[in-house]
Amino acid sequence: MTDAVGIPEKGRIRLLSDALIDQIAAGEVVERPASVVKELVENSLDAGASRIRVEIRDGGAALIAVTDDGIGMSPRELPVALQRHATSKLASAADLMRISSFGFRGEALPAIASVSRFRIVSRVRGSDHGHEIQIEGGRVVRESEAGGPEGTRVEVADLFASVPARRKFLKRPGTEWGHIADWLVRLALVRPELHLEAWRDQKTAFVWPACRDHRDRIADVLSEDDAAALIEVDRAAPEIRIHAFVSTPERTRPNGQGLYLFVNGRPVRDRLLRHALVEAYRDLLPRGRFPIGILFLEVPPETVDVNVHPAKWEVRFSDPQAIHRAIRHSVKDAMASRRWLGTLGAPGRVASADGPFRTRSETSGRRVAASGEAGGTDDWIFAQGGPRPGPPRSGGDGSVRETPEGDPFGGIALDADSGLHTAAGSEDRTPEPPVASFGALPILGQLRASYLLAESEDGLLVVDQHAAHERILYERLRQTWLESGVARQGLLTPTSVSLAPGAIEAILDAKDRVERLGFEIEAFGEGAVLVRAVPAELSGQEIGTLVTELGAALEAAPHDAETGDLDASAIRWLPTLDRLFATLACHSARRFGDRLPEPEQREILRGLDSIPWAPTCPHGRPVAVLIRHEDLESRFRRR
Ligand code: ADP
Ligand code: MG
Repeated sequence: MTDAVGIPEKGRIRLLSDALIDQIAAGEVVERPASVVKELVENSLDAGASRIRVEIRDGGAALIAVTDDGIGMSPRELPVALQRHATSKLASAADLMRISSFGFRGEALPAIASVSRFRIVSRVRGSDHGHEIQIEGGRVVRESEAGGPEGTRVEVADLFASVPARRKFLKRPGTEWGHIADWLVRLALVRPELHLEAWRDQKTAFVWPACRDHRDRIADVLSEDDAAALIEVDRAAPEIRIHAFVSTPERTRPNGQGLYLFVNGRPVRDRLLRHALVEAYRDLLPRGRFPIGILFLEVPPETVDVNVHPAKWEVRFSDPQAIHRAIRHSVKDAMASRRWLGTLGAPGRVASADGPFRTRSETSGRRVAASGEAGGTDDWIFAQGGPRPGPPRSGGDGSVRETPEGDPFGGIALDADSGLHTAAGSEDRTPEPPVASFGALPILGQLRASYLLAESEDGLLVVDQHAAHERILYERLRQTWLESGVARQGLLTPTSVSLAPGAIEAILDAKDRVERLGFEIEAFGEGAVLVRAVPAELSGQEIGTLVTELGAALEAAPHDAETGDLDASAIRWLPTLDRLFATLACHSARRFGDRLPEPEQREILRGLDSIPWAPTCPHGRPVAVLIRHEDLESRFRRR
């Protein structure tokens, strides 16, 4: 093809020049310096490199250089590699669906070369000399024999210098370096056998020598302490393998930055995977805290689309629910089998202010003891009431059985029962409750208008009335929403609520979702909506607060235009919903200090029987504490 062939009569429609096509491709491939690093390093990996060095100057704006010890390219191959759609990795369209290597479009090198001053030097393994090509403004300015070690070195200087509109969008060097380092960290985690080093402005930023296994690499990249504390999860079924290193509930972070996710060896930032991992901790972590987790997911390549966008790290699964469930189960089981949720220990500690999670120093000695013990000594009640599909997980003595062999996901088939309701955790099996039924316990009364006291066979059950009621409301909202939609209760007099324009728009735009949540809301002039119905479970509450929370959640919710499939988008929406349900439940629950009539006390205890039992309220505070007879006896020196 020649340069810009004009159409004589009109002169309006033209074929684009190769150089321009490359620059357009660059717009897709090269979003920022980190994407150049990614493309170059992936090429090195594809070339079988075992050592890779990355050099960055000025956040990548001045220089990005990647040097590898891979197979290299011969003087004949080198110019070909720089042509558009030149690739050694893709022979037919059928290959597209089963891509296992990293890059495959065959356009990265020409695209990058079109927006930089570009130099590539390569020497084939075993050859006695190399070859180099320099490109400027999309044109070869030099091609010659070159020295250098076996392998390939690519230098990208003055990125976007010739495309001011794009250069302008480069952020501060520190920010661009941050994106680069972020990606390199992930690569390091997934490829421990790789020697990886990075130089920033001519100083060593890090050197990660080749490691034996993931845990060693995690120690290098994160910290020794983190690495030592992580639990390894390794589960495989025919269509899926989950290999992960996850933190115990005691080791949390204030945000999700300790989560590293990989699909078939590629780092991703998928919301679904992240949610599944965090969901496994749903009842174990205080709200707003996140686990540390390094998750390697392997699935058949044809069941996942990783080609969504070259610069984004998102993936699309053909069966997102199955993936979600498998991750959740594997991680949850790992938690349960370790019995992190062991005894609380000495009497007097039961109401300790720091909640259900002891500090490391407190647990370290006790963990060993707890693991050898028979169950039934838990002060915190980790159990599940209500319908219990499948065989119970615990023995009669309350001890936790290990997952049976050959049943990698705790007996839940991946392809069966893929209904969304499973995301509610109703089938998640946790240890047996020490009381068969909360509702059946004799109630002793209310303490400080805040705690419900009940007598159980094993001791005195103390229930935080607000936390318990909140938990019940939360679970019911969540469960009914997942099953069919939350029941609505019409208001006798429709109420108008003033809201910010963004919230109004979000509510009116999401009519289906709003109705499924049990609300009926319509436009009401400028700056307000008219509320005709609210979730039945929450009726009697301050409507303005509920609707404001709803608006905020909808504004924050991801817009999922991809499919009309409610289930697929629903699961992506769950993280937002969980927060919304927790907030709504909190607003509506009986307060600490509310004097409750006996029937209402009873109703809360019964409510605990009707939900998948969990030890904490949605905010992570404990719901119930059992003060055992033995504890009382020892305090009264009767033992
Ligand atoms: P793709 O990676 O999609 O094939 P690229 O433009 O990134 O396209 O690279 C084109 C070709 O150049 C590759 O298919 C590969 O054969 C060759 N190549 C690129 N980088 C290297 C490298 N570091 N070592 C060896 N060969 C390389
Ligand atoms: Mg490539």
